[in-house]
Amino acid sequence: MASRRHRADVAPTRIDIAAYDAAGLAGVLADLGQPAYRTKQVASWLYSRLAPAFDEMTDLPTALRSGLNERYSLQHPSLDQMQPSKDGTRKYLWRLPDGVMVESVGIPAGDRLTVCYSTQAGCAMGCTFCATGRGGFVRDLLVGEMVWQVALVAKDFGVRASNAVAMGQGEPLQNYDATLGALRLMNAREGMEIGARHLTISTCGVIPGIERLAREPEQFTLAVSLHSAVQSTRNRIMPGVRRWPLPLLRDTLVDYTQRTSRRPTLEFALIAGENDTQAEITALVAFARGWMCHVNLIPVNPVEGTDMARPDASRMAAVTAALAAAGVESSIRVERGTDIDAACGQLTQHHRRTVG
Ligand code: SF4
Repeated sequence: MASRRHRADVAPTRIDIAAYDAAGLAGVLADLGQPAYRTKQVASWLYSRLAPAFDEMTDLPTALRSGLNERYSLQHPSLDQMQPSKDGTRKYLWRLPDGVMVESVGIPAGDRLTVCYSTQAGCAMGCTFCATGRGGFVRDLLVGEMVWQVALVAKDFGVRASNAVAMGQGEPLQNYDATLGALRLMNAREGMEIGARHLTISTCGVIPGIERLAREPEQFTLAVSLHSAVQSTRNRIMPGVRRWPLPLLRDTLVDYTQRTSRRPTLEFALIAGENDTQAEITALVAFARGWMCHVNLIPVNPVEGTDMARPDASRMAAVTAALAAAGVESSIRVERGTDIDAACGQLTQHHRRTVG
């Protein structure tokens, strides 16, 4: 009798519903004996209508809501901190159900809202210019944990998100399946209805992931953090991608453009004295010329604890002039929200200092 009571007292472990992509949700509902149309209905409640509990999905049969409650948990990221910038940008620090912290950024521009979200808590890639890289890897995020960041930021702004970029903490192509699942739910009518071309994946150059992405049917946008086209510099500032040398990266990107007819962006954070020298500019031009790409030059944000500084205007002009002379499209991206915590990972770093 005592042992039976003991077993009954132990609540069965429930699975986080955020772990499922659309196909996974279909399996969840099929297991509960539901017709196929329920998948879109539940996805809509989760990611479009942002129901905070299964019991609030009022057009589902009571028995289905009970079945979902018994087997699955549903818990939105809770807001730990929000910092508004003078330019309208807002940075968010979210606490996930297991206590892990991740960040997102909302960037309004006219009638558009771009949300930058995290795909991992922490990051294993170790880029030296990045606060997240210096903090190490914690865990991969679940599908829903990514979609909810975007949806909750949009809700806070009171508008729909027009663009979402996987450019927060983490390397999205190291969490490939969950990231693709999240992109598809952001793209879906029952999700957030963001056009595929307005969904950007930013990678530091994970070759197997770029090869997989080239074979996906959707027209998602690819951005690659290059930051140096000199192998020794790149090895030093981006040690996580040392195993994929620059010639292989270029070949893979050329193949990507041929398969998809899509133009990737090469992100290049300019660091004074590091990657703005003549040798660096020459290597960048050689890497980018002759194929379909766009170079995005980003004067680096200072990161506390490093001596990194942004180049002066004349160096930036020299880089754009050299690219233009080689027929390579480029632009200079002005960082938003520099009066609040800037650059990926900094909000979490500040939090760690505050609480730790
Ligand atoms: S820049 Fe991106 S890939 Fe590199 S350490 Fe930071 S989060 Fe990771």
